[in-house]
Amino acid sequence: MEHFEITHRDAMGRIARLETPHGVVETPTLMPVINPNIDFISAEEMKKFGTEVVITNSYIVYRTGRLREIALQKGIHALLDTDLAVMTDSGSYQLMVYGDVEVNNKEIVEFQKAIGSDIAVPLDIPTPPDSAITFAEEDLRTTLEREKEAAELFTSEKSLIALPIQGSTHPELRRRAAEKAVEVAEETGVRAVFPVGAIVPLLDTYRLTDVARIILEVKSVLPAWAPVHLFGAGHPMFFAVAVALGCDLFDSAAYALYAKDDRYLTPYGTKKLEELQYLPCNCPVCSEYTPEELRKMERGERRRLIAEHNLYVSFEEIRTVKQAIKENALFELVENRIRSHPHLIGAWRLLKEEKYAGLMELLDAGIKQTFFYTGIESLYRPAVVRHAERIKRIELEGDEFTISTNLLENADFYLRPAFGVVPAELMESYPAGHAEIPPAEFIEDEALKVAVKNLIDFLEFHRDKKFRLKLDDIWKQSIEKLPSNALLIE
Ligand SMILES: [Zn+2]
Repeated sequence: MEHFEITHRDAMGRIARLETPHGVVETPTLMPVINPNIDFISAEEMKKFGTEVVITNSYIVYRTGRLREIALQKGIHALLDTDLAVMTDSGSYQLMVYGDVEVNNKEIVEFQKAIGSDIAVPLDIPTPPDSAITFAEEDLRTTLEREKEAAELFTSEKSLIALPIQGSTHPELRRRAAEKAVEVAEETGVRAVFPVGAIVPLLDTYRLTDVARIILEVKSVLPAWAPVHLFGAGHPMFFAVAVALGCDLFDSAAYALYAKDDRYLTPYGTKKLEELQYLPCNCPVCSEYTPEELRKMERGERRRLIAEHNLYVSFEEIRTVKQAIKENALFELVENRIRSHPHLIGAWRLLKEEKYAGLMELLDAGIKQTFFYTGIESLYRPAVVRHAERIKRIELEGDEFTISTNLLENADFYLRPAFGVVPAELMESYPAGHAEIPPAEFIEDEALKVAVKNLIDFLEFHRDKKFRLKLDDIWKQSIEKLPSNALLIE
């Protein structure tokens, strides 16, 4: 789509230019939530953290007489006093929390259009996790009708319209929701973004595997041109994983909500101010104050400073993720980040499942120069799978070959952890030749198992050839039985 132009890719992540009526936004990015009723960090002040687009709630504006008047007369940008792009939410969140809102879909979408929202959101129904499938289906039907109604109001608009993807924790409903949302976008020709909705209850309870599964199911259906917004995800510890799974937009109410309870965000998790003896960050706030000074402050001032830190650290993580995409090192970054929480590890290990591994292999388009092994999750990278597939079917000229584990010896092939058989002529090439891997004695058993499996597959594929294997003890111990065309030599 013309409004979303991808410029760099790595894993399933991408850097892209998202065009809005208020300028181009580079994704992945974070949209801080501005509450138009509360005088806190203003949209203009948001610029200093790296903000390119903010999000505010059009339902609050709609319901608050004086705000509504200004917004209708001068526009939402004048109300927030900013030239940044503004996404507006519809009241769906209030619908989820309070069960009811005093506006219908058409009214709130037309209102967002009238106040000049850059990205408007229909009144979709956020179905909570674990809902019975019949309820989730019914909600989804309503959501899709409302998306259609909203999209028809945005045909030929320069503004974008969000087409949220609901479906609770039912993978097949999430897929259907994504398919139908794409149909709506294509039929109406709107400039769409695709929020994945109702995941906050999952994030709040660290059900990160469920979140990752929902993202993967949705991504298995969405075309590459579809910008994906992980609606309600604002904790920096999840950004790297979510981007690597193909998410482009995040929003943060978290910076303020966490600050309210003296909670301090880091890319590794959340700290309570009372636990901190030192501030492990270099942002202007953390450079100027000690935890003790913050604790002694008046509540409002402290809350504001912690919120600023939370924003600095969130945007720092966004930039770190973008740099990793440009370096084609997003896998390495993700594998590091997941160490900070067991449920992040669980979420990423979904890529062990064949269908998700296949999806990652299909969509990982980054051209990489290096392969840094960081742990067993490195084994799920497409580079490992592709290497094994490619080498297995390699054409062999001759009848007898040597395979060695000693890289200093002459051999036709070498055996490396994680990869298995590597032809000598590829020992200077990406991935297997260039890979930085711990020595076989010190690597996880899984990395040897994968290599041995690839070795056996290779030997069996070439069963008309003979192979002489010179192996270190650690490798001998890892191999149960060799095919008859392989001979172990000392
Ligand atoms: Zn800081």
